[in-house]
Amino acid sequence: MAERRHGAVPPPTESEVRHEDWACDDISGQEHARVAFHDVDLTEVVNQGAAFTECVFSDCRFNASVHTDAAFVNCSFTNCSFFDATFTGCKLVGSAFERCSFGLLKVTGGDWSFVGLPGADLSKSRITGVRMREADLTGANCADATLSHADLAGALLLRTNLSRTDLRGSDLSTLDPIAANVRAAIIDPDQAATLAEALGLSVRPHSPTRDLEPPGSRSAGRKGDHQAAPGLGISAGQPPRGAPMARRHLVRAAVGVAAAATSLVVAAPATATSGAGSPGLGDPYFPLAGNGGYDVRHYSLDLDYVRATNFLDASTTITARATQDLRRFNLDLRGFTVSRVTVNRLPATFTRDGQELVVTPRVPLRRGKTFVVKVEYKGEPTEVIDPDGSSEGWVPTADGAFVVNEPQGSPGWYPANDNPRDKATYDMAITVPKGITAIGNGRLLSKRDRGGKTTWRWYEDSPMAPYLATATNGVFELRVSKAGRIPLYHAVDPAEVAEGAFDRLAAEAEIIAFFSDLYGPYPFSSGGGVVDHAPEVGYALESQTKSQYDSTPSAGTVVHEISHQWFGNSVSLTVWPDIWLNEGFASFSEWIYDERHGGPTAQASFDQVYARPATSSIWTRPPTNVGGPQFMFSGTVYDRGAATLQALRVKVGDRTFFRILREWYADNRNGNVTTADFVRLAEKRSGQQLDAFFDTWLYQPAKPTTW
Ligand SMILES: [Zn+2]
Repeated sequence: MAERRHGAVPPPTESEVRHEDWACDDISGQEHARVAFHDVDLTEVVNQGAAFTECVFSDCRFNASVHTDAAFVNCSFTNCSFFDATFTGCKLVGSAFERCSFGLLKVTGGDWSFVGLPGADLSKSRITGVRMREADLTGANCADATLSHADLAGALLLRTNLSRTDLRGSDLSTLDPIAANVRAAIIDPDQAATLAEALGLSVRPHSPTRDLEPPGSRSAGRKGDHQAAPGLGISAGQPPRGAPMARRHLVRAAVGVAAAATSLVVAAPATATSGAGSPGLGDPYFPLAGNGGYDVRHYSLDLDYVRATNFLDASTTITARATQDLRRFNLDLRGFTVSRVTVNRLPATFTRDGQELVVTPRVPLRRGKTFVVKVEYKGEPTEVIDPDGSSEGWVPTADGAFVVNEPQGSPGWYPANDNPRDKATYDMAITVPKGITAIGNGRLLSKRDRGGKTTWRWYEDSPMAPYLATATNGVFELRVSKAGRIPLYHAVDPAEVAEGAFDRLAAEAEIIAFFSDLYGPYPFSSGGGVVDHAPEVGYALESQTKSQYDSTPSAGTVVHEISHQWFGNSVSLTVWPDIWLNEGFASFSEWIYDERHGGPTAQASFDQVYARPATSSIWTRPPTNVGGPQFMFSGTVYDRGAATLQALRVKVGDRTFFRILREWYADNRNGNVTTADFVRLAEKRSGQQLDAFFDTWLYQPAKPTTW
């Protein structure tokens, strides 16, 4: 079919649907051509693969609807609302929108070429990785939106409001920065050069001088050959006490075009010449976890598991962007037989070396280019035993598997860039025998029976560290409720129902409201918890959007895991020795929750911890230096970490203290942080010199006496 350009007259329709209520329906797989839809309520529809061709929609509501791999080709939308609608991998080629509203629209991947969105209010929308060739965004309002990694070649951007829009990675070759509002738009250095040239400037790099490269330049970002930049603190090692440290994630270049162009000249990086991505990222505890040379954007996991044979037949498709020229690169994967690897659909050669899967694409990858690698593998999952002796990864249970990965279990069931610095969105299709429930991260898109099997599809639309992925499965009772506008999924093993597990999980809605009020809005678009019957595991984990409990948790544990959604999951550590940034904050969250719910005050909880004798390991092992990965989850990171925050609260006062915590979350949402970042923020907000305070509480192997 010819692709209709925006503005062309829609073809005549041949049938119509009027005043119907399709709200919450699953319209997956439906096909409609030349149908006129008028006043149809499609709120919260789930749509996997439906195809609408040359249809006309007027006065229809698509609010909170979820569309995956669906098509709306050459369609017209007039006076329709798309509040909180999600389109993933959809094709909307040639469709036109008129007088529609789009609050919080989310579009990930797919083809929206020739789409007509003139004058559309897309402010705060999130559009990533979408092909939008020759799309018409004339006069559209994209303020505070994300419009990143979009192919905007030939797009019409006249008078488009791009103020504070995150445009990184998008093709801006047709953007005239004078003819659009680009005030405080966020761009990367390559785009700065493109825009500076559009302004008539001549951009030329200095000859690269490694020693002069400032922190925050591209080679000091979270990816890249860490070996090449030892002077920047990118390689292994604890930050020196109190010393400022280079932030290890990409610096948001929210600067004027000319300034960005200038900083590009200063920061022009030396490119790696070997063409091999590094096999690890130099974490002091897990040096081979994660890999260099690329940045994962999205994982698509396709898992088929049968507990009776403990056999996983799977493929993982990873969309990533090369951060250097790559002749070969690594993924982390333990065990399994790998049958096939493709890169951009071409067969690639691969070798195995311990947990490293080394992939050599047929065509070398160019820096800055997005690529797709697919790994097909099968076998019995390898349970990963941690340095402290605990089990993680894909842990078989009586009726399925309990799937938890902190800190290094993920490669036991899927190939990953297994480092918390490389966050990505995820979708999962988990196929299990009929009667078994499989629970992934994020929202449930669909559940489909075929033969004797059921496929559960889940989608997590916020960036997630690989260790927070889950695919726990077994016999479960699944209940869906709401916390405000977000869905909560509660799954309980029948063996735990009588233990009151559902009542424990029912508290989540109030806990989410409490922390949203205290720290800032809940970070994700769904929530919930899974109570399995796997007591041999011996711990709970805050997997993103769905905390995992090996048995019915205490009320305090539920509070702890929910608070991790803010601190640990949304605001993530950069290196594992900073684990107190997760556990100290979650333990303090339990204390403050108790204080505000008629329990002991946080100061009383502090006093209890402080009463421990000077010989206690919480004093001899400082939270930032516990003595190795085998002590990573020892009491000091929880109790002394929480005590550090309560001591800070007393020192700077409640008002400043909670302002610091709110800002810590707001500034670092979906990002990565270090202890030095927190010290810097606390000093900035309090106006106090706090080196000695944090040194005493976090770095000294002794019980604090004065601070
Ligand atoms: Zn925790």
